Amino acid sequence: MSAEVAKVAEEEFVDYEEDQAVVADAAGDAKKGSYAGVVSTGFREMLLKAPLMNALQDCSFEHPSEVQQECLPQALYGSDLICQAKAGTGKTAVFVLATLQLIEPDDKVDTLVMCHTRELAYQICREYLRFAKYMPEIRVHVYFGGIPVQKHKDMLKSATPHIVIGTPGRVLQLVTEKDLDLSSVKRVIFDECDSLLKEVDMRSVVQQVFQQTPHNKQVMLFSATIPKEIRAVARLFTAPNPIELYVDDESKLTLHGLLQFYVELSDEQKNRKLNELLDSLEFNQVIIFVSSVSRCQALNKFLNEFGFPSIAMYGGLAQEERLKRYNDFKEYKARFLVSTDIFGRGVDFERVNIVINYDMSKDADTYLHRVGRSGRFGTKGLSVTLISSDEDKEVLKQVQERFSVDVKPMPEKIEISTYMSA
Ligand code: AMP
Repeated sequence: MSAEVAKVAEEEFVDYEEDQAVVADAAGDAKKGSYAGVVSTGFREMLLKAPLMNALQDCSFEHPSEVQQECLPQALYGSDLICQAKAGTGKTAVFVLATLQLIEPDDKVDTLVMCHTRELAYQICREYLRFAKYMPEIRVHVYFGGIPVQKHKDMLKSATPHIVIGTPGRVLQLVTEKDLDLSSVKRVIFDECDSLLKEVDMRSVVQQVFQQTPHNKQVMLFSATIPKEIRAVARLFTAPNPIELYVDDESKLTLHGLLQFYVELSDEQKNRKLNELLDSLEFNQVIIFVSSVSRCQALNKFLNEFGFPSIAMYGGLAQEERLKRYNDFKEYKARFLVSTDIFGRGVDFERVNIVINYDMSKDADTYLHRVGRSGRFGTKGLSVTLISSDEDKEVLKQVQERFSVDVKPMPEKIEISTYMSA
């Protein structure tokens, strides 16, 4: 760190000690960047190094969120961690900040982060770059399928990254073909770990990669949903007795800033209803989830024809196109995204305040992840689910039971201030 940066750090850090007891404002509103809830520890007390404090300030992260308060000190201490906490509450920063704090860069890979989708890998890479802004010596690489493997091999030949983020298949290929050496890794992170560990095929790839890392290392696993059976699997990857932080009561997983409604109708009535909703609701950005690629393409076409310029996102797209669409939506070039479950998890579009389940998800966990795309980081949001079959009703019933949330029939009129932050 240059002397100049250190000086800025000294002078410009706000001392958060004085205003630690931050609570929601009178209306109970939590604005992004001001975590609502009683805050007992600030970032400053966590003794983060100056380049990280500077980056936090640039990102306007004033106070740690609950999950950051609970997990970051443990992560910084080097403990193995299994952490389940609500979607959109700042889990990424826990491992990004911890690894950047602990890293002692040499010519070896220090940290490996694995996750199940390419866009999530890309997004995590961006978070690393954001927080490593004042640590120019840190090299962060992201590897995922859909991009010629030679490109990744060339990147690895030209420089060894300190932090590797990737999807399991591509990482395994690079390791097996001896392009990527993980034998000195000090930290391994699984983000959306239940997705990595649920399916036997994916789990086996993850295990093969994991076996290439040394025995002694820190392991951290994160997700908004870690079902009991996955917890047992997760523990196989950590040291005995890892620190486990679960929101045990699933009702606590409910996103409090989020209003949730449903509309019962036939499949044929969905387009008209959607049109009505988009005409009558106020929004910044909207994500509309559908059940298949063909429905995604058809609905995207319909929306564009009806004057709602939208982007379609589904699995079969070429990787470059997928990233372009991800960036276009993130950069607000369109206000509507029609997506299959490929974007149901992890991805963070901070302007999204409405999620519409044009097709109900196939299970309650997926519902929770999908609606968690809005109302992120304590902001308000609205979800509307279109219910057209007995199976849809069954999933809705499970959602209501498991997460103790009252998803009500959509009323005629909804007060804008209840789902849109001022
Ligand atoms: P995540 O759950 O990691 O996807 O984070 C959700 C959103 O909250 C992202 O847009 C983060 O940039 C933002 N965020 C995370 N932690 C904080 C914080 N302490 N203060 C303000 N924003 C935050």
